[in-house]
Amino acid sequence: MSKKNILIEPDPILRKKSQSLEKVDDELRKLMDEMLETMYAAPGIGLAAVQIGILKRLIVIDISKDDQKKEPLFLVNPKITYQSKKTSVYEEGCLSLPGHFAEIERPAECHVSYVDYGGKNQELKASGLLATCVQHEIDHLNGVLFIDYLSKLKKDMIIKKLTKQKKEINKIVL
Ligand code: ZN
Repeated sequence: MSKKNILIEPDPILRKKSQSLEKVDDELRKLMDEMLETMYAAPGIGLAAVQIGILKRLIVIDISKDDQKKEPLFLVNPKITYQSKKTSVYEEGCLSLPGHFAEIERPAECHVSYVDYGGKNQELKASGLLATCVQHEIDHLNGVLFIDYLSKLKKDMIIKKLTKQKKEINKIVL
């Protein structure tokens, strides 16, 4: 298994819509394992395939705390089937927007149909942090980032800072 590079905004790939997967096979399971390893190493609690440059509808999530048993969730072709009217606010970050956080309001509960690691159809009923996390990751599959919910001024400021950060990183590498 190998860790993958995580794309950082601004990157045009992060804005593309991911395509549905046909089936869950060993090759896809290998990719899911690599995504999980990449996410744990980052560290993060969610990762969409597009964040490592693969435009497929696949996300991995694990919201368990450090001292708890790991509880990875693999969601292939996740689809939101219900969102509550009630909302909740969490301070969100993103592995593709390192160092930036913002309070984002989303439906407090959602139901998601998906295909699991074994290729079986499943339904997830999520609330709390898990609901926010799964909606954040599904947004990635549609080319949406959490900064898109902010005012244009705030969003532009974050993108400007990230652009500058990326230039600095390149300088060190060279
Ligand atoms: Zn993200």
